[in-house]
Amino acid sequence: MSDFIQLLPDHVANQIAAGEVVQRPASVIKELLENSIDAGAEHIQVVIKDAGKTLIQVVDDGKGMSLTDARMSFERHATSKIKSAEDLFSLKTKGFRGEALASIAAIAHVELKTKPEDEEVGTCIKIEGSSISSQEPCVTPKGTSLCVKNLFYNIPARRNFLKSDNVETRHIIDEFQRVALAHPHINFALHHNGSELFQLNATNYRQRITNIFGGKTNEKLVPVNEDTEIVKISGFVGKPEFAKRSRGEQFFFVNDRFIKSPYLNHAVVAAFEGLLKEKTYPSYFLYLQVDPKSIDINIHPTKTEIKFDDEHALYAMLRSAIKHSLGQFNVAPVLDFDRDSELDTPYAYKNKGAEIPKVEVDRDFNPFKNETGGSNYRPGNSFKKESTAGWESLYAGTTAEIESAAAGGHMEFESEEVTGSLFDTSEEKPENTTFQLHKKFIVSTLKSGILVIDQNRAHSRILYEELLKNITISAAVSQQLLFPLKLQFNAHEVEMLKQIRESLEQTGFVFSEINKDAVEITGIPTLISESEVEMLLEQLLSDLENDVPDNGFSQTDLLAKSLAKSMSVKTGTVLSGSEQQHIVNRLFACKEPGLTPFNKSIFITLTVDELEKKFT
Ligand code: ADP
Ligand code: MG
Repeated sequence: MSDFIQLLPDHVANQIAAGEVVQRPASVIKELLENSIDAGAEHIQVVIKDAGKTLIQVVDDGKGMSLTDARMSFERHATSKIKSAEDLFSLKTKGFRGEALASIAAIAHVELKTKPEDEEVGTCIKIEGSSISSQEPCVTPKGTSLCVKNLFYNIPARRNFLKSDNVETRHIIDEFQRVALAHPHINFALHHNGSELFQLNATNYRQRITNIFGGKTNEKLVPVNEDTEIVKISGFVGKPEFAKRSRGEQFFFVNDRFIKSPYLNHAVVAAFEGLLKEKTYPSYFLYLQVDPKSIDINIHPTKTEIKFDDEHALYAMLRSAIKHSLGQFNVAPVLDFDRDSELDTPYAYKNKGAEIPKVEVDRDFNPFKNETGGSNYRPGNSFKKESTAGWESLYAGTTAEIESAAAGGHMEFESEEVTGSLFDTSEEKPENTTFQLHKKFIVSTLKSGILVIDQNRAHSRILYEELLKNITISAAVSQQLLFPLKLQFNAHEVEMLKQIRESLEQTGFVFSEINKDAVEITGIPTLISESEVEMLLEQLLSDLENDVPDNGFSQTDLLAKSLAKSMSVKTGTVLSGSEQQHIVNRLFACKEPGLTPFNKSIFITLTVDELEKKFT
């Protein structure tokens, strides 16, 4: 029998290795930035075109490479950083595998220009798909410039797999920020399609964080410092009241390397216990220095996960260090997030005795005549347009859709007189045919049974359709703010806001100014209140970031979905009778009353037949 096994040619092996090292343009940025840092650069410039798909260039003023080193650097397992397996346990550099350049050169057009300080001329090497196409001396400043063009040009499947420019740019910015946060003493710049995204001058940690995340960040940071035998912890956590709706600003660095650690994240969150609003996430920028011997960074090919020798001790120390900081900086006692300053005793009354208040009763008060109840749910103008009296008519014409939604069962809305209470003897037809269950469901009657509606889901469908209509057809009404609202965002968030500005304005937002790291808002949709604006935009940006489709229509859709999610009345909100009915009425005026924008069912029905069966 003949032999089958043969060694793979180098370029094939390199392509396979590239699959591990280079997932997307951002991975190239990470590798090149790390090489520049390892080379001792003080200035590092990144230039990208089309989210790195067309061009990624990293220029540094590090120690450069000799002609031989320049040739060698593209060989697989060629590294200047370790010499033996021993060295793996005392790593001081970012790289050590010697795989990055070989991998990148296997799947792109690469041009390297490099020169060590003490040489007259530098070296320029062009390499495509692992084969060198030219090599010549060149004039170039001290340091290294690496140009990576047409990434995945020879692997169309990988190229097609790349996400939209927005998403890929986001990944690049993430990598760039992680490296820049870990090395505040190095100058970094990032340019995309000719415009500057970041220009970060060498500084300290606190200032670097502020420069990246925008003006007001500085005030939000609480320093954390702890020096123990096994770990030195430094850095900052965000004050709890600035906790975000998304996990965006959470960073751990171990020995200047960004890592992900759900376990350590848990320690941080535990330190914040009792201080955070539900579904918010604290910001943190935590730098841990440990003995390189006590960690194993070798367990993940892209090296964002780390194995610690003594995780439990680290957990405990981290948690207590943060708790201590939060306490020391007087952050912990701020427990009352929803405190309304208007409820504070005015100064003049502070020392006066209390009088027994007079009780006044409005004997003409009729709760059913009142549109809005005393609950904290604000139905907004659009809700008030319809009169509750005509509620039955609103069901007309929608019955068919409801029927199709209600799995075959025959349904008709109750239009007969309904007795609201056992003791109700009045001839007048009661308006209230709904009630609220568990502050979560609206129960309504049908001729053929009952209807149970999830209030939050129903409202999100209503808002979603309304917002879509506003964005695509006509402009919505806007409420003018008395004082313009100034909100801080980081550079990338501002970029995204600019892209969706027009659509947002169709929903009722009015932006008077959008500059580099802040926006000024003078009008907001009538359906939301001023205090919700920041949360809502934050949520929207994080939704867009995580799931930005390419074409305009889908972006509109995503916007409407995200806003509807944020603005909809939540489970746990008490609804007055008329509010419940508004929701029911408007829901069944929707094009698709059965499903939320996220495809969850909004209501269920129980027919009399089904009820009967339960009693047999
Ligand atoms: P690793 O970083 O794991 O050693 P790479 O493939 O990333 O492997 O780089 C190979 C070698 O090329 C490095 O060990 C280093 O000696 C050299 N090198 C790469 N980039 C630079 C740079 N920007 N400046 C100087 N030398 C570099
Ligand atoms: Mg490297």
